[in-house]
Order: sequence, then C-alpha cells, then structure tokens
Amino acid sequence: MELSHAIGLVQSYGTGRRTYRVTMMEPLPAGVPGGAAVRLHGVSRHWGSVAALDGVSLEVKAGTFCVLLGPSGCGKTTCLRIVAGLEQASGGVIEIGGRDVTALPPAARGVAMVFQSYALFPHLNVAENIVFGLKARSVPKADRARRLDRAVEILGIGHLLARRPGQLSGGQQQRVALGRAIVAEAPVCLMDEPLSNLDAQLRADMRREILALQRRLGITMLYVTHDQTEAMGMADQVVLLRDGHIEQDAPPAEVYAAPATTFAASFIGTPPMNLLKLSESGVIDGSVGPVLGPARAGLVAGIRPEALRLAATGIAARVTHGEYLGADTVVACTVADGQTLLARLPGRVGLADNAAVKFEFDRADLHLFDAGTGRRVSTV
Ligand code: ATP
Repeated sequence: MELSHAIGLVQSYGTGRRTYRVTMMEPLPAGVPGGAAVRLHGVSRHWGSVAALDGVSLEVKAGTFCVLLGPSGCGKTTCLRIVAGLEQASGGVIEIGGRDVTALPPAARGVAMVFQSYALFPHLNVAENIVFGLKARSVPKADRARRLDRAVEILGIGHLLARRPGQLSGGQQQRVALGRAIVAEAPVCLMDEPLSNLDAQLRADMRREILALQRRLGITMLYVTHDQTEAMGMADQVVLLRDGHIEQDAPPAEVYAAPATTFAASFIGTPPMNLLKLSESGVIDGSVGPVLGPARAGLVAGIRPEALRLAATGIAARVTHGEYLGADTVVACTVADGQTLLARLPGRVGLADNAAVKFEFDRADLHLFDAGTGRRVSTV
C-alpha cells in the first residue's frame, strides 16, 4: 500500500453521522446505527490474463465481522481495495449500506481502512497522526478533539499522544492505526493483514482487542488474513478465497465441521484434515472397508487429526515422527500405500519412530469428497 493511497483514504474518514460518545466498556446507546451492509455482485478484476477476482458475489450483513481468508495471491487484497475504491473492478457492482458505490471515489464510500504497514507519518506525533485525516478534511477543531478523546479512551493510549511513531512499539503503532480508523466513525472498516508485523503473543492480544472494538462500535468489518487461526477466532463469517473465486462462505464452525471442498478441508484446522485417496475397493489400506462399504472408489476420505484415536483395530499405520505440543501430541504416520496420516492425540504420547499403530474414528467424523472435483459428497 502506497502512502498516497493511505492519505487519500484517511481524508475520506468521517463520513458517518454518529455523534455519540462511548467509553471503554459501555454498550452502544440504544438507537445508534451500527455498521452498513456490504454486497458484491459478480465482481471481477483482471490484470491481463490474470483474474485476481473472478465473478465474486458476497453479502456481509451490517455489524458482521467478516474475514477474507486464503493463501497468498488468491485475491484478498484486491477484493478489499475494490470495496475501498482504491481499485476499479473490471466488472460487477459494489454496494455499501444499500448504495451502489461502484463508481464512487474512496472518500464518498464511508469506509475506514487499517493497513499492514500502519501508514503512520513519522514526523507527526500520535495525536496528530490520529486526527490527520480529519484535519485534512477541515473537520472543526472541537469535533476533532471529541473524536480523538473517544479513540484514546477506547484504546488506552492517552500516555502516548506526544510521541512519534519511531518511539512506539509495534503494538502501540497498531493501536494508533486503529485510532485513525475509530475517529473516522465510518460504518465499515477494512483491515488488510493488520497484525502480521506483530509477534505471536501480541497478535493474540490484538486479535481480542480488535474483535472487542468491532463489537462495541457495532461496525461492519472486512478483515483480510491468510491465517486460519485468526479467521476461526474472530469471524462471524469466513469467506475462503482461492484463485480469485469463493471456495466457501460460511460461519467458521461450519467451515470446520463441513468443509465444502478438499481445499477448504486442508486450509482450516491445525494440523489440516487428512485427505486419503480411497482404493478401487473403497478402502484405505484395507482398514476402513467396514466403515465405508464398497463402491467408494473415486472418493477422497477426510478425517481430522483430532478425530483419530489409538485402538486395537482400524487404520493400520507406521509412526514416522511424533511432536509433543504440550496439551497434545501430533503423530505423523504413513499407511501401507504410502499416504501420510496425522493424528492429534491428547496429552503426551510416547510412540517410537517406526512403531506399528492402529487408529479408529467415529463415522460422524468421516468426510467424503469427489476425487475429481474436490467437492464434498456427503458424510456417511
Ligand atoms: P497476499 O496475501 O500475498 O497479499 P492476496 O490474496 O491479497 O495475496 P492479491 O494481492 O489480491 O492477493 O493478488 C491477487 C492476484 O492478482 C495475484 O496473482 C497478483 O499477482 C495479481 N495482482 C495483484 N495486483 C496486481 C497488479 N497491480 N498487477 C498485476 N497483477 C496483480
């Protein structure tokens, strides 16, 4: 993200009309409008022969925390920039709050944006950084002060106001960037990998803060990440993107419990779901026949590592490696035809490398996918 874009967007802040004041743990006053719905209808973005987005249709209800999730290059940032108005769609319609904003500039869309780089001005102090966009838009001084007070109160950064970004930790810089989004008082907030510069502990803390902030302000959030843990922990709605199209659009619990495709199955969960090709007779290594029954060739069996248990009968496997993680142990194995199987077993499980083991699982934990299309067939 170039700074000029960031400035353009900062200047677009403040299009909301909310003038209430909230303090740290106060619920929103009754009657205060929450966020605005965001809708994409068949939105595409082509770069030459590359389709960064290919006919994406999406509805994010007002006040929802929506995470755009997917691997590098799947089109997450492009999608966010198109909603912001920083990028023009090659086709399709974007609506915010029921208004067609496809042809509107960023300043007229009522969105705030937080970038991975924070885009803070090094020569301005924290207070000046937070209200920069408001000042540029000639928002009256008293209104600027009111909005700054509110953001400072919400984020607990009153002691940092006179400091410059170079004198702040990564987490503090992140809060300043959030402060800029808060003073915008926009009904929609767009965040592009805002936590990727932070260490693991701080990321976890900021995840909770951002979620609490979104809930308290009642805004609609579109949040981009490639980190499925963030998506699972924060989202009301996960939009999983792959190669410019939506692979699955559902609440996180549904993506976990009923992944629509093998791609979704392998993207969500730690470690990801085991995907085992079934043999001609519809069994894995001769072991799962009784569970699956015959005529299952052409299918892929999905079994989550945490659904497997050590047992006297079941899938026969040989241990290749065990990794003790504290609460549980991830055991990597191979089955007879060479496919890899991961099991996540509770507690500390001491299994020697090369040990012969068997795993069982409940029928309800078995997912089936078409080996050709990758799409979910059913759970047997
Ligand atoms: P990352 O997580 O790595 O940021 P992403 O999912 O956000 O990836 P995008 O940045 O939206 O992906 O890019 C989607 C596709 O569009 C990629 O193949 C990328 O190379 C291509 N792309 C993005 N911007 C441009 C551009 N300005 N010119 C040409 N191709 C582009």
